[in-house]
Amino acid sequence: MSFFLKLISVSEAKAKIREIAGETYPQKVTLSEAYDRVLASDVLSDADVPGFSRSIVDGYAVVSKDTTGAGESIPTMLEYLGRVEMGTPAQIKLTPGTCAYVPTGGNVPDGADAVAMVEYSEALGDEVLIFRPMSNGENIVFADEDFAKGSPVMKKGTTLKPQECGVLASLGKEEVEVFKKPVIGIISTGNELVPVSKEPGFGKVRDVNTYLCSGFVKRCGCIPKIYGVIPDERDELREAIRLATEECDAVLISGGSSKDERDNTSSIIKELGEVLIHGIAISPGKPTIIGTATGKPVIGLPGHPASAYIVLYVLVSELLYKMQMKAVTNNTITTTLLENIPSAQGREDYVRVKLSDDGAKPLYAKSGLLNTLIKSDGMVKIPSGSEGLEAGSLVEVILW
Ligand code: AMP
Ligand code: MG
Repeated sequence: MSFFLKLISVSEAKAKIREIAGETYPQKVTLSEAYDRVLASDVLSDADVPGFSRSIVDGYAVVSKDTTGAGESIPTMLEYLGRVEMGTPAQIKLTPGTCAYVPTGGNVPDGADAVAMVEYSEALGDEVLIFRPMSNGENIVFADEDFAKGSPVMKKGTTLKPQECGVLASLGKEEVEVFKKPVIGIISTGNELVPVSKEPGFGKVRDVNTYLCSGFVKRCGCIPKIYGVIPDERDELREAIRLATEECDAVLISGGSSKDERDNTSSIIKELGEVLIHGIAISPGKPTIIGTATGKPVIGLPGHPASAYIVLYVLVSELLYKMQMKAVTNNTITTTLLENIPSAQGREDYVRVKLSDDGAKPLYAKSGLLNTLIKSDGMVKIPSGSEGLEAGSLVEVILW
């Protein structure tokens, strides 16, 4: 018997999750810890970068006008004034008719406005021949050309990829203000569950979801805080959810999320806050709860690990990324579906698939089985308006 009379669409559920996902607080971290974090404030350049005019080639700094008309047969001959040393200001000043050697990255001397590559030159004692005309600014990076003092460089909300970290180093940002990593409380509930360290007696099973959830939480860049197995006792579950919502930025509770009278999760969330959604048009994962308790987002996941995993991927990821001001990113590939996948209209179906060189083969499993979680490479979504997908069609596989 179904207790779910009205199911909410996946897109509405995602929107609700994003609505309740608050921004975390800013914190300062050293640049070496900043990778993959999200900027909590704009970054401006405090100074001109590179700060001095720099050659981008090994060659001769010249006054470009001197080289007008230079060519293979009629090179320009310039007086050689010496060499600029790397890492020190140029001690040489050019006047028309002169040149100086500058290595790549070296300071272009005053008076020069171009650097001719060594390939287009020939040193002849005190003289240098230049075989190509040079234009003003050629092969020079100017003092403020990368980032001018006071200019905006990165915006709040930018995820720091390796390239951003490198640029922050060039700006001298030893510390960066980023959003605190959200701490996500994880609770498993069920009288039949035992912790991983215990031998399950007859009728009991080990708690899988704590590790499924904590791995997923880490993968999304958050910090899991494990509260362990809580029996189906209202007082104990209420106390665990209260504590977890006080200590964490959001809480995931798996088990007891259905509408059977033994399922406590929804009514306890209601006591501590609000149930916003209970029952989503997703398969697997229908008995999912979205709410708040003690002012924090709380998600009630179905107990079956395979269902919980799909809900983590499709819905919880929205929460975990939004809290860090990131957009959800999934790796996907497009390939041929090898068998028909039938689907009921009115719900979004997620079917696990195994990939081979030929394409994607759907893996069906009775709910409660774990093995398809590790045999599958990802999942295919069947939109709620569709009656299924046909063998031979191209499908997008969301890779685990
Ligand atoms: P429930 O959502 O509490 O009705 O649980 C549905 C099914 O998932 C039951 O067979 C539970 O034993 C199982 N289950 C619930 N929580 C877990 C868990 N943490 N680890 C493994 N199985 C679970
Ligand atoms: Mg249960």
